[in-house]
Amino acid sequence: MANQFIQLAAPGLAALKPYVPGKPLSELERELGITGSIKLASNENPLGPGPQVRAALQAQIADVPRYPDGGAYELRRALARHHDLEPACVTVGNGSNDVLDMIARVFLWAGRESLFSQYAFAVYPISSMAVGATLRVAPAKDYGHDLDAMRGLITDQTGVVWIANPNNPTGTCLDAGPLRAFIEAVPSNTLVVVDEAYFEYADDGNRPDTSRWLGDFPNLIVTRTFSKAYGLAALRVGYGLSHPDVADLLNRVRQPFNVDSFAQAAALAALADREHLQRSVELNRRGMQQLEEGVRRIGLQFIPSAGNFLTIDLGREAGPVDQALLRLGVITRPVANYGLPNHLRVSIGLESENERFLQALGQVL
Ligand SMILES: *Cc1c(COP(=O)(O)O)cnc(C)c1O
Repeated sequence: MANQFIQLAAPGLAALKPYVPGKPLSELERELGITGSIKLASNENPLGPGPQVRAALQAQIADVPRYPDGGAYELRRALARHHDLEPACVTVGNGSNDVLDMIARVFLWAGRESLFSQYAFAVYPISSMAVGATLRVAPAKDYGHDLDAMRGLITDQTGVVWIANPNNPTGTCLDAGPLRAFIEAVPSNTLVVVDEAYFEYADDGNRPDTSRWLGDFPNLIVTRTFSKAYGLAALRVGYGLSHPDVADLLNRVRQPFNVDSFAQAAALAALADREHLQRSVELNRRGMQQLEEGVRRIGLQFIPSAGNFLTIDLGREAGPVDQALLRLGVITRPVANYGLPNHLRVSIGLESENERFLQALGQVL
């Protein structure tokens, strides 16, 4: 139905389709009148946070009447130490989506171009359209970024190039060599955003930690999040790493209290608990194996993933399969909105959850 106020809204909003989040457990159970369902739809950490984080959250209750530290002093200092950078390089966000949105507001406007890959994360077009920028979409190669195609689309007007590494919803990951060569080729007046929301899962040999390249590329912004491997999705905390002058601009549009005191305290505690992170990554590695083997046994193909999810080619429309899985109490994520109508994205869960998904999928097919 047409929105009667659309003529009054900023021009980019007419074609903007809002982000589609994974279905919450409570919603499914309310709709079907069932309990005991499982959610493998939003790439969350099935272990949740460790005990230190829980204690830190408890301790924050006393400070509820006070505004949080708007400058996130301790958290930015800890993140700077973690990445061997200055605190002035760190911009905190209400989730890393918030940082992505700040980047769009600072570096894009009507007439400027926003460049990303086909099948790239949905927030790039949303944040870009909200500020009236023109979208440029490079065709994907093997479901991942085609860096040559992307380079060919950069113009004088390109304000921001977005790269998710690993990418969501496909799980593809670029190696250090080609990614670095690409960034070197991007003109210095175009910002390059490398969104590393799944970095902790992909951290091995060839996978780049682009935060180490910030000294070489003043136009590079790296984003990270506590929502995935750190298990803090509900708290909404992420961050950007960049040249201090870029951070200064991002902080000009940042809401003063965008990261609340629970989120700051939890992120600090999570960052210090390397053991829990290791456990989470290890659980994911085993779960990925379990899902890959199970999916192969059913006779289906999937896109090899460096993240905490697997995107499966069902060889037929995923919508009805998703609906049937929902009726069995299993929430996954159809990705037709990304132009992948036959694929289903499933997040790696606990061993028992992965098993239940595989059984349900086998049953539905
Ligand atoms: C999940 C995700 C994010 C992070 O979102 P938050 O706002 O930090 O919860 C960012 N980028 C990609 C590609 C993601 O999949």
